[in-house]
Amino acid sequence: MASLFHVPTLMACLLAIWAVFAILLTMAWHQERHRPELAIWSIGFWLGAFGALFLSMRTILPEALTIGLGNGLLILATGLAWLGFRAFDGLSLKFWVPVVPTAIWIAAFLFWPGFQDDVNARIALVSVLIVILSLMFVRSMWQGEAIEPLPSRKLVLGTMAIHATINAVRLPLVIMAPVVEQGGVALSVWHGAFTFEIVVNTLFCGMALFSLGRERVTAEYKRASQIDALTEIFNRRAFSEHVEAYRRRGVEGAIALLDLDHFKRINDTHGHGAGDKVLCAFVAMVRDILPDGIIFGRLGGEEFALYLPGREPGEAYAICDRLRRAVENLPVDWNGHRLRLTVSIGLCGDVPAGVDLGTVLGFADRSLYAAKRNGRNQIAFADGAEGLGQFLPGSVPETALHQQHGP
Ligand code: GH3
Ligand code: MG
Ligand code: MG
Repeated sequence: MASLFHVPTLMACLLAIWAVFAILLTMAWHQERHRPELAIWSIGFWLGAFGALFLSMRTILPEALTIGLGNGLLILATGLAWLGFRAFDGLSLKFWVPVVPTAIWIAAFLFWPGFQDDVNARIALVSVLIVILSLMFVRSMWQGEAIEPLPSRKLVLGTMAIHATINAVRLPLVIMAPVVEQGGVALSVWHGAFTFEIVVNTLFCGMALFSLGRERVTAEYKRASQIDALTEIFNRRAFSEHVEAYRRRGVEGAIALLDLDHFKRINDTHGHGAGDKVLCAFVAMVRDILPDGIIFGRLGGEEFALYLPGREPGEAYAICDRLRRAVENLPVDWNGHRLRLTVSIGLCGDVPAGVDLGTVLGFADRSLYAAKRNGRNQIAFADGAEGLGQFLPGSVPETALHQQHGP
């Protein structure tokens, strides 16, 4: 066990890990200057690399430099890694947090009589400081996960919880099985194994820093590909995906197409800004009064869609009519003018789950067109079970029936 975990070799590994991540983080920061966390992590990892460098030169340099400065730099680096996570989450930067434990260590090293020569006292103090910092990591990851869940946060949370536990376990060990030093090398079975844990922990955390950034960007792109930029509701693609997810499970329901009436006039009379404001006011109002469980999306321009899973045609009609009447009374003020708005709705009830969504939307669009033709500000209803049955897989198309029985 003691030969398996050779502490000087592990220190060299630690030095390499801190240095490799320091280089990678500095390069990342060079490319993404708008991310303060990369700057903080870069500085932290460089300091950690120098700390490990000093610690690995125990037999060459004076102990004040190797033990005193080396450990001080590693504590400061750990604190800066924590501070970087605060920057990552857009929280206030508490610079005093990395400084205080570092100052405690340096003060103990310089002014505590006998401390410099007592390896067990040094291990105990470093352990206490690392336990506190590790628990602060765990707390930050826990809080961040509630706001913005990212898989790598759990990785950091888990590794730092293990790190805190292992450092806490070191405290009784320095009393029960004290470390003995010989020629600047600690002779202890557990000390080597615990140093190995520091190497693994640093490796995990360094990798997590990169994963977190990538996971955030991926989540942002995913959101951008699904959410309409102006109104912040589902776009056509996301609407279709969510509707299809229900229909694949065989859920039937109603689909409605909503088109604002004479919307172009608003743009032409008051400008595009007024049109945008109307679109946002319309969406906010619909979201406000729609019952839970109904999917709402913007298909494009001033055209929207609703999917009402499991709703009977009568229920769907009542919901649509409530929306239509609310739009009539929606007050939108623009430059001292009160803009008036109405909506036409093409509603298709009892939509069979097996019919292709494009066909269903085309069918509802015919109803919408009928509502427009009949004077707007109204709902035109079509029975999906009757009108779309012929499009179900395996059914005989109406045209074929006509051909069979026609003259
Ligand atoms: P109808 O009652 O027949 O639906 O008439 P309409 O004027 O509402 O329909 P039309 O298709 O003629 O015009 C729709 C207009 O919507 C044209 C387009 O410039 C405008 N539009 C599309 N997207 C946006 C947008 O994001 N913001 C604004 N302000 N206008 C938009
Ligand atoms: Mg319109
Ligand atoms: Mg339109």
